[in-house]
Amino acid sequence: MKVLVAVKRVVDYNVKVRPKPDGSGVDLANVKMAINPFCEIAVEEAVRLKERGVADEVVVVSVGPTQAQEQLRTALALGADRGILVEAEADLEPLAVAKVLKAVCEREQPGLVILGKQSIDGDNNQTGQLLAALLGWGQGTFASEVVVEGDRVRVTREVDGGLQTVSLRLPAVVTTDLRLNEPRYASLPNIMKAKKKPIEVTRPAELGVDVARRTELLGVEPPPARKGGIKVADVAELVDKLRNEAKVIG
Ligand code: AMP
Repeated sequence: MKVLVAVKRVVDYNVKVRPKPDGSGVDLANVKMAINPFCEIAVEEAVRLKERGVADEVVVVSVGPTQAQEQLRTALALGADRGILVEAEADLEPLAVAKVLKAVCEREQPGLVILGKQSIDGDNNQTGQLLAALLGWGQGTFASEVVVEGDRVRVTREVDGGLQTVSLRLPAVVTTDLRLNEPRYASLPNIMKAKKKPIEVTRPAELGVDVARRTELLGVEPPPARKGGIKVADVAELVDKLRNEAKVIG
């Protein structure tokens, strides 16, 4: 079975992001970029499926600028076999990304597609669900366990207050939650080997996909700065302030 994994290039999670002065977006100048953490978990899961003999090929695909090849190389160093870069402007809408991924799925015919549950830059949590709907395939989102059983996949999902287990007919779409696995570190020999693995470059137009925007970004602003705290003399003063100034107790 072929497993296709979608990986997104995002700002590294250690970076404290800043909006541009005109509020038109996030300032990406000289900012460290990385593979989206949930996508790294998706790659790890696919590689484990290959190591268990369930998958025979792991293909990673990214939709984004030329530099997204760096994230594809990281995925190849973690054990994926080949990459596909669909070159497009950074920050496409989830619907556009899902349409591109659908076209790639139609060409590649994977048995399973694994995505992250969410990209940490846009916090969209949409692409996997949209992709499953566009393909007409089943979806197991927020996966904390994935077991392929013949022509089905059993997905344990992290839902509010517990776990839900669903069984999906393959091909299917799975999105990863944090506890699915702990991704490995790429070893130096594997980083070297990854340099020789193939990355095909294509474009949305070549796949016949229109990626025109349907929403308009009106503005990005930082959260309001926290006001300094004050010290109170005793509990009575604290209760008084909570009651009469903050008005949070009756
Ligand atoms: P989102 O819907 O943006 O929160 O993203 C959820 C998941 O969809 C990510 O973790 C990726 O697996 C996939 N994804 C989103 N955008 C892209 C992209 N530009 N290229 C490849 N995969 C993407």
